[in-house]
Amino acid sequence: MIDDAAVSAGSGREGLRVEAPTNGVVEPRPISYWLDSLGPLPRRPPLGGDCQVDVAIVGAGFTGLWTAYELQRRQPSLSIAILDSEVAGFGASGRNGSWCVPELNAGLELLTARFGKEQTLALQRALSETVEEVGRTLKAEGVDAAFDRAGVLLLARGAYQVPLLREHLRSYQAAGLPDEYTWLEGSEARDRLDVAGVAAALYTPNGATLDPGRAVRGLAEAVERRGATIYEDTRAVRVRPGQPVVVDTDRGRVTAGVVVLALEAYLSQLRGYHRRVLPLYSLITITEPLTEDRLAAINWTDRMCVASMRLTVDYLARTREGRILVGGRGAPYDYGSRISSAREHHAATHAGLRRTFDEWFPALKGTRFTHSWGGVLAMPRDWIPQIGFDKSSGVGYAYGYTGHGVATSNLAGRTLADLITDRVTDLTRLPLVSHRSPSWEPEPLRWLGVRFVQRGMTRLDQQGERTGRPLQGGALVRRLSSH
Ligand SMILES: Cc1cc2nc3c(=O)[nH]c(=O)nc-3n(C[C@H](O)[C@H](O)[C@H](O)COP(=O)(O)OP(=O)(O)OC[C@H]3O[C@@H](n4cnc5c(N)ncnc54)[C@H](O)[C@@H]3O)c2cc1C
Repeated sequence: MIDDAAVSAGSGREGLRVEAPTNGVVEPRPISYWLDSLGPLPRRPPLGGDCQVDVAIVGAGFTGLWTAYELQRRQPSLSIAILDSEVAGFGASGRNGSWCVPELNAGLELLTARFGKEQTLALQRALSETVEEVGRTLKAEGVDAAFDRAGVLLLARGAYQVPLLREHLRSYQAAGLPDEYTWLEGSEARDRLDVAGVAAALYTPNGATLDPGRAVRGLAEAVERRGATIYEDTRAVRVRPGQPVVVDTDRGRVTAGVVVLALEAYLSQLRGYHRRVLPLYSLITITEPLTEDRLAAINWTDRMCVASMRLTVDYLARTREGRILVGGRGAPYDYGSRISSAREHHAATHAGLRRTFDEWFPALKGTRFTHSWGGVLAMPRDWIPQIGFDKSSGVGYAYGYTGHGVATSNLAGRTLADLITDRVTDLTRLPLVSHRSPSWEPEPLRWLGVRFVQRGMTRLDQQGERTGRPLQGGALVRRLSSH
């Protein structure tokens, strides 16, 4: 069993496995169940000195790889170099909760307030089409990423979450999408999934789960087949905009016509981009494979994505072999936006996730957990992702998915490819293009504010669970955290 032994703070350069001292013995710890299940990952050679290409992409996660793939589709002759400080899929793309859904964390209400109803609807439609696009493209490239479209079930666990569920439904109705979700009363909800304490649920067929490790590694091979070169163990240390644009790395200098920053949370570690996003930890634990009988006992017969309306976020998914994944926020924000592997293995948060599983599924008590891990997601100051390309500086970027990047990164890759190849399309007219979020505050204000909101959300969840009453102050916390 690989689980919650304490780990010392890492530099973020630990390589594929994080060293975890257990009983005085240093044992390797997999980065995620997904990457571990692939067996030993071969490392691609690093950049071997200076080079010149048409497009340099920094970061070999979903954003960088989808952008490369879509550029290759539009202009096969482009020379493309993809740089990653670790290996392809090392970041959130190889660690996530496996949801591939057409939703942003920002929510339709906030998006409508920012962009208006028409633009928000266009964005929502584009996201919905993206889920299908991800499945279709992976299949076309022969990537077996266990993509299954079984929808999303949102639960109100306890009466206190019911108003939040209604609010979610209302936001879709107000945005002009009244049929997106079906309301299920308690017993109907339990027929879908027998979770203890469920008061009501919303269901939409619009959503899928996939194996992100297989998806991201398969995509890396697909872009290589089409002629791109991926340099692993190659860290970008500085980007110098201009014509040409220059990326200084620890292995040499890359000169390019265009550079794409595809770093998500790691963007906060790059010189000049420190306050663009806030790195937040999201942690996951996963069970051993459960037999069909045990899964049938809780009515979990397909691969729906499942979440409750907790402010501190809990989400579940099922793998094809019957493992149940439980994820959630919780590990506290680190002063100065520091990213460290120690936070990805926050023992209290992982213990809380296992408790969640026991509380949700008392019938499955005693189930063994085989892997616990975490990663960082990127939160922009206003929760809204941004996609853009500035021709004069040669710099393209997409980031700020706030834990909703599996589908959105594909949308971003297609959009960036259109922008870089100078096409005006429905995608380039989407409101995320050239949207600029304000920068995060300098420290110590940032740390004080974020910790205040994190603590506030935890307290509100606890208060709701204790009293069963609708949240007092939930709106305040949401307002504080979204502006
Ligand atoms: C635990 C967790 C659960 C999540 N669950 C979901 C989910 O269920 N559904 C969903 O839609 N989204 C989820 N997300 C978010 C989603 O995974 C991300 O939004 C998405 O994968 C981001 O992809 P990316 O390519 O932009 O970034 P990443 O995958 O983070 O890739 C960035 C890459 O840049 C590399 N890098 C870092 N610094 C440098 C440097 N200086 N030079 C070169 N390379 C560098 C890293 O090694 C990494 O490979 C989750 C995120 C986390 C952390």
